[in-house]
Amino acid sequence: MKIETLAVHAGREIDKTTGAVQEPIHLSTTFHRDENGELASEFIYSRSGNPNRRALEKCLASLEGAAECAAFSSGMAAANAVFQALEPGAHVVLSNGYYGTGKMLMDVFTRWQVECSVVDTSDLGAFRKSLRKNTQLVWIETPTNPMIRVTDLDAVSAHAHSVGAKVVCDNTVGTPILQRPLEHGCDMSMYSATKFLSGHGDVLGGAIVSKENDEFFERVRTIQTGAGAVPSPFECWLTLRGIRTLPYRVRAHSENAMKVAAYLDGHGAISSVNYPGLENNPHHAVAKKQMKMFGGLLSIHLKGGRDAALRMASRVRLFTRATSLGGTESLIEHRASVEAPPAQTPEDLLRLSIGLEHPDDLIADLEQALA
Ligand code: PLP
Repeated sequence: MKIETLAVHAGREIDKTTGAVQEPIHLSTTFHRDENGELASEFIYSRSGNPNRRALEKCLASLEGAAECAAFSSGMAAANAVFQALEPGAHVVLSNGYYGTGKMLMDVFTRWQVECSVVDTSDLGAFRKSLRKNTQLVWIETPTNPMIRVTDLDAVSAHAHSVGAKVVCDNTVGTPILQRPLEHGCDMSMYSATKFLSGHGDVLGGAIVSKENDEFFERVRTIQTGAGAVPSPFECWLTLRGIRTLPYRVRAHSENAMKVAAYLDGHGAISSVNYPGLENNPHHAVAKKQMKMFGGLLSIHLKGGRDAALRMASRVRLFTRATSLGGTESLIEHRASVEAPPAQTPEDLLRLSIGLEHPDDLIADLEQALA
């Protein structure tokens, strides 16, 4: 079936007792055994499994044609589970993308003898040089947040597998609608479900989607159910509700972002626009090869540097000054003010998450902010 149909139906079951078409929210933390000790279903205790979480996991696995999915309480909890599944002394190659992922590896896992190389994985030469004999994990983020760099997933996966490394793609910005990393050689996709998947800025969540139900994924599952960084039943329900409209929302985010990027690209106050949908963007060819559309996230460099960037952010009226991305409302943020090492985001950069407002209104707001 097509992805729109899967988004609506995957993980859906008519409630057996009431006939409810939308799944009830199962708040119970524990599940009854009969006099013979038999359980009524696969569920025992809600840290190890819950009907709403299972429905969300089935849906996400189905959207990617994957064997399995584990849902977490945040994107970072999902990433953390993969890092915890590594062997001691592992070397990890990481895209220079979302600063929180690199910070987690550097602050926590290097103390556990995990070595970490942060590289621009969109540069295949630099990526190949960073691989070592003990590289166990290649963590690709594409497109990256906030520089919107695009990595060639087929090429990177082939090189990573040649040294025996697992490849995970942080597909938060692409979503399974625009990009299906498992079809480009990756072993797992990771999501911050906080963003486009739930899509309304009211849920914190994450997920690991795995091509195989292999030994490595089993370790991720053990960490999920054993440590319990799991989303609540209500958050799973909200995320699944968000996914039902994901294909249509992501297309609208992408169309709006394309129009906003094209407007900003010609503006005299802006030195460059990072958006792979623009034909003059250095990542356009790779993005076109592996993405259906180019997503709802872009960033811009202001000619007047940090001061001009802060001035523009202070003048917007329709855009909201806030962190995060992938919600219905457009957001703007000066990333250098909020990030920490290993990020090196330039001071002249503003990140824009393009929402579902009419693009003419967004452009009018940016125009008056830049005037
Ligand atoms: N990956 C990317 C690309 C992100 O943008 C973020 C958050 O901004 C995360 C991961 C972390 O997700 P969460 O905030 O849900 O833990």
